[in-house]
Amino acid sequence: MCGDELTLELTCADDALAMRFDGHACLVCLASADLLAESVDSASVAEARRTTARFLAALDSGATEGLSPALVSLLGVRALPIRVACAKLPWDAATKALAAIAGDPFSAESAR
Ligand SMILES: [Zn+2]
Repeated sequence: MCGDELTLELTCADDALAMRFDGHACLVCLASADLLAESVDSASVAEARRTTARFLAALDSGATEGLSPALVSLLGVRALPIRVACAKLPWDAATKALAAIAGDPFSAESAR
């Protein structure tokens, strides 16, 4: 990683999420956080958890099914393995935050 530090703020009202982020991070990380915010905006917690799980799996596998065109283009980062961690950071953080919102302490702890 390249010293990315990002704070995510996920709020949920009537099962519609909103996400804000702040911090010092490289362009890859910020672009990824931007797309994450777009992907979970107004989604339900369950939908957002599916989207984050799908994208994290896609970062590993390169599978593009079910991803928006913008997320598919973000997968281009796989060509630069050291940058994958940068793209992954916000999604990992969101996964933990969503598990906590869903009241799922087991996943919150097992998520890296
Ligand atoms: Zn980075």
